[in-house]
Amino acid sequence: METIDWSSLSFGYMPTDYNVRYTYKNNAWGEMEITDSQTVTMHIASTCLHYGQAAFEGLKAFRGKDGKIRIFRLDENAKRLQSSCRGIMMPELSLEKFKDAVITAVKKNERFVPPYESGASLYIRPVLFGTGEQVGVKPAKEYVFIIFVTPVGPYFKEGFKPTPMVILRQYDRAAPLGTGTFKVGGNYAASLVAGEKAHEMGYSAVLYLDAKEKKYIDECGPANFFGIRGNSYITPKSTSILPSITNKSLMTIAESLGMTVEQRRVPEEELETFDEAGACGTAAVISPIERIDDLDRNKSYVFSKDGKPGVICEKLYNKLRAIQYGDETDTFGWITIVE
Ligand SMILES: *Cc1c(COP(=O)(O)O)cnc(C)c1O
Repeated sequence: METIDWSSLSFGYMPTDYNVRYTYKNNAWGEMEITDSQTVTMHIASTCLHYGQAAFEGLKAFRGKDGKIRIFRLDENAKRLQSSCRGIMMPELSLEKFKDAVITAVKKNERFVPPYESGASLYIRPVLFGTGEQVGVKPAKEYVFIIFVTPVGPYFKEGFKPTPMVILRQYDRAAPLGTGTFKVGGNYAASLVAGEKAHEMGYSAVLYLDAKEKKYIDECGPANFFGIRGNSYITPKSTSILPSITNKSLMTIAESLGMTVEQRRVPEEELETFDEAGACGTAAVISPIERIDDLDRNKSYVFSKDGKPGVICEKLYNKLRAIQYGDETDTFGWITIVE
C-alpha cells in the first residue's frame, strides 16, 4: 500500500479505494452498491449532459486527537440535496440513504482520513444526476447518485490570511428567481468566466451583487459573504444565494458568543462600515477578505491593512475548527462520529 504525504495535499482529486452508488429506476431508488470503478457509463442522451440536471454536495470528515472520525453536519447536507432535487425536478434521496452512503464511503476509505496533526481532512463529494435519455426538455426517468471521497490539505497552507476580492458588474452568477438557492452544476458553469477573469487579475474570488438591481451583496462565487461591525455578524439575505451550512453554523456560534446576528439585504455601500469581512464555506471554513475592489466605481473597501485576519474572524474560525476536530465539545449536535 502506498504511503500518502499528508503535508503536500492540495484541494484536488486523489483516487481512493471505493465509491458508493444508488440508481433510480422504475420510480424507486435501489440498494447501495460499493465499487472501485472511477467511471460511469451513461446514455448519450442523459439529461445531465444536455440540460444540466445535476446537483452536488460537499462535506468533510475529520480525525480527532482521540483517533475518532467526525463528520460535520451530515443531516444538513442531506436536506440541502433534497432541496436541490426539488429545484431541478430530480427524485429526492431519503435522509437515511444519504447518511448510510456517507458513512459507508468514509469507512471503506478510512485509510485516507488524514491524521489529526496534518490539519488535513477527508472531503466527501455526493453528486446526483439524470441519466435517463430524453431529447425533449423534460426531467429524466433514471438517475444515479454517487459519493466519492478524497483527502484534502489544509486550505491555508501559509496560515490563515486575508485575500482580495473583486466586484465585476458585467457578470451575474444566478438570477433572482433562478437556481441560485440550489447547489446545481449549472450555477458553477455560469460563474467560470468571471472567476477566471478575477484570478487573472490577482483576486481570489468574485463578490457578486444581486443580479436585478446591482445594489446588494449576494455571495462570493462558491462561498457566502459576511461582515463584522462591532459586535454584529451581518450576512446577506437574497433569493439567489446558496444557503451555506458553514454560514449557518457561524451564525449559531456568533450568537452563542453573545454577538448579534443580522441576516438581511446588505447594500454595497455598507461595506464601508465593516470592521472585518469574510467568505465562508466547507473548503476553507472562513477566508478572511483583505479588500473588495469595485472596479467600475473605482472604489476599494479595505478590511485588513496589515495582512492579518480580524480578531472576530479568527475567533469564529478557531471555534468551528475545534468542534470539527473534536478539540471542543459539540454542544450543538453537529457531529456524527463514525463507529
Ligand atoms: C456550496 C456552496 C457554498 C458553501 O456552502 P457550505 O455548505 O458552507 O459548504 C456557498 N455558495 C455556493 C454557491 C455553494 O455552492
